[in-house]
Amino acid sequence: MRICKKCNCEIETPKAWLWRKYCPTGHRLLDEAVVRSFWGSFARTLVGTFFLTAAAVLGVAFNPDFVGTAAQRRRFEEGVGELFGFVLILILLAGVRAFYQAKAWNKRGGAVQSLIPRVRGKGFGYLSAAILLAIYLGPAFW
Ligand SMILES: [Zn+2]
Repeated sequence: MRICKKCNCEIETPKAWLWRKYCPTGHRLLDEAVVRSFWGSFARTLVGTFFLTAAAVLGVAFNPDFVGTAAQRRRFEEGVGELFGFVLILILLAGVRAFYQAKAWNKRGGAVQSLIPRVRGKGFGYLSAAILLAIYLGPAFW
């Protein structure tokens, strides 16, 4: 089932044009309009965020093809460490934003409330991913 956030209504069978889905009024329905459970959303966000960020940070920081002296290399890794800290803050902000969205939808009421478990799961998923990343990758940089 999907929810159109603009109309605040449930849509069982959306109109489709190729792979795109629309509500009867014509609003585009993205994947985020699909109703999901808290834990489903939590797991997807946590695993996706954790592995993408870890792979990107480790891939950049410990690039075996790095050319330069040991001192240059250390400075480069410090730079990546700062960038990693910045990415962690962005992930935390995304989590906070999800909680605000849940609060706003709760106040608004109606069909959009069906999306609240999903967005709460996303919020907790981001927070958990940020904590796990800090625990696993933090010691390598800070
Ligand atoms: Zn609509």
